[in-house]
Amino acid sequence: MTFDDLLHANLRYREEFHDSGVAGKAAKGLAVLTCIDSRIDPLAMLGLRPGDAKIIRNAGARVTDDSLRSLVLAANLLDVHRVCVVHHTDCAMVGQTPDGLRARISELTGVDASGWEFLPMTDQRATLRDDLARIRACPLLPPDLEVGGFVFDVHSGALEPVEE
Ligand SMILES: [Zn+2]
Repeated sequence: MTFDDLLHANLRYREEFHDSGVAGKAAKGLAVLTCIDSRIDPLAMLGLRPGDAKIIRNAGARVTDDSLRSLVLAANLLDVHRVCVVHHTDCAMVGQTPDGLRARISELTGVDASGWEFLPMTDQRATLRDDLARIRACPLLPPDLEVGGFVFDVHSGALEPVEE
């Protein structure tokens, strides 16, 4: 079936797997919101291991109602006190307009996508700054939550802080 390769890989994974016993909280007090781009390995990129951080991903690493939902739960219940929002170079969500992207999806699917918000960006850094402000303005997040924005270079592996 479609997922046979994955189940097969899991057989090997479970042979080497050891329950680390870590809790489902974030040992490093960290949440990372990043893009779904398959070149990003969030744990390796930040020197983290399973148990260290909450990882939230969506197309473009956008601060949406749903990513805020996860951040509110992580900050209030799961020991998160700092958040990294990590955009990246060569992101497919950059350089498109909302209307252009909707038109493209409509064309590909043959279904009217005009009611959808895909949240593409034209100015990546300005969008990132706006999104950081949206996290800071969320009333259900602790006022002392540390929030930082970064751009990951998918070709060099470098992580660049974005000044606000
Ligand atoms: Zn991306």
